[in-house]
Amino acid sequence: MENRKVRVRFAPSPTGPLHMGGVRTALYNYLFAKKHGGDFILRVEDTDQTRFVPGAEAYIQESLAWTGLVPNEGPAKGGEFGPYRQSERKPLYRQYADALVASGNAYYAFDTSEELEEVREKAKAAKLPNWQYNHITRNSMKNSLTLSEDETERKLAAGEPYTIRLKMPRNEEVRFEDIVRGWVVVNTNNLDDKVIFKSDGMPTYHLANIVDDHLMEISHVIRGEEWLPSAPVHVLLYRYLGWEATQPKFAHLPLILKPDGNGKLSKRDGDRLGFPVFPLEWNDPAKSEVSSGYREKGYFADGFVNMLAFLGWNPGTPQELFDLDGLVEAFTLERVGKSGAKFDPDKTRWFNQQYLRQRSDAELAQGLQPLLTEKGIEAAPEYIEKVCALMKERATFISDMLEGMYLFQAPESFDEKTLRKKWKEATPGIMSKLREELAALEDFSETNIEARFKAFLETEGLGFGAVLPNLRLLITGVGMGPSVFAIIAMLGKTEALNRIDTNMQHIATLKAS
Ligand code: GLU
Repeated sequence: MENRKVRVRFAPSPTGPLHMGGVRTALYNYLFAKKHGGDFILRVEDTDQTRFVPGAEAYIQESLAWTGLVPNEGPAKGGEFGPYRQSERKPLYRQYADALVASGNAYYAFDTSEELEEVREKAKAAKLPNWQYNHITRNSMKNSLTLSEDETERKLAAGEPYTIRLKMPRNEEVRFEDIVRGWVVVNTNNLDDKVIFKSDGMPTYHLANIVDDHLMEISHVIRGEEWLPSAPVHVLLYRYLGWEATQPKFAHLPLILKPDGNGKLSKRDGDRLGFPVFPLEWNDPAKSEVSSGYREKGYFADGFVNMLAFLGWNPGTPQELFDLDGLVEAFTLERVGKSGAKFDPDKTRWFNQQYLRQRSDAELAQGLQPLLTEKGIEAAPEYIEKVCALMKERATFISDMLEGMYLFQAPESFDEKTLRKKWKEATPGIMSKLREELAALEDFSETNIEARFKAFLETEGLGFGAVLPNLRLLITGVGMGPSVFAIIAMLGKTEALNRIDTNMQHIATLKAS
């Protein structure tokens, strides 16, 4: 048992796009598997056909591909333990539900949904809002425990619809050790008789999940905290099916909280505060509504993954930047915290900025190229690389480097604030003189331009503040940016002098109006 091969699964239900919390669950499963030389499996839990959303499974697969969390086994890749979609495993589950009935741990329930609704309504009216089908109430319901054997047989033979429910024992303590939360103890009096098999011939989540984890030889179940209340039910199922010896170990991951820490992070928080909660953009087929995604917003997959890793885990050292292999190396479930992890959109941007700075200029240029093409700009790859080298220190996203548009085309507008505050009556005269200095330069390098500029200030008795912003304005049209000297050098002498000449005239007209 201790030397069991590590096999973990990510088991989403294709009911919509994957929330970033789901990606974190996949990530922790992946890291744990790789750390222990194990397998990372994707299993699609689609037993609830009423909640099936077209495109959701493809979305999940694409999200995993984007983040680099590629499963060893799954619906796309196959594997020895397939099929990996529960709907395709349908014929497999019935025998286990039958075995549970045969051993007295489950029973047939014939109550119709109308009847159940009626009981619930009555309970509500009697001020018992949380009516449950449980060890007490089942005695007054229509099931194989209350009906005679003949009556049950007759109903089954007549093909009356029924569900199979788990028979919760009375007043028993179910305990298991969770790797993240320690010992969890629950009294069965607090658990209801869960439906394990539905009238449509499909197992419910609980049964399918346990059967599959067993058959797929899953060693560890790593999933979100919202599944913690289900775990005691699962422990009982392992026991009743005689699979206790190979019951997987559990690790329930902490919730991801809103940025202010008040409650679970939802899509609404993202909409309200302006950040995506999904890895990829999602086109809701039913509502024709588009939800933004990290990928489309220009986030790097590796930075996004790095950020997610820290939502609930830390390495115990100050190091924050880890690539996927580094995370595999550093990750342990023991360092996953119990308390909810606050999502921090600023930190998410910070990670992106760090990853942008780590990228080579050539890589960044490749990312910038299509954005330029969109704007109708053509430039040599080497030139785009130089632009990236110059702009990257100021950028969080590749698209931020479009601020340096003036490196590709002459400005057509001029920053009003600079114009108002810095462009004085004497400015045109100063700029004309400065132009001549630049024109006289033979070696038009950044250092040379800067040296000549400083010498010019010195001889004219002028301060930086009176000249530099205006020079920037003439060259770029904006009030801020990387070194003007670097920009001028990149544009080259002809273009720089041209811009000074043309834009002096533009500005003169602007000022006069
Ligand atoms: N299908 C469940 C989900 O959608 C899986 C929970 C589990 O991992 O057991 O999250």
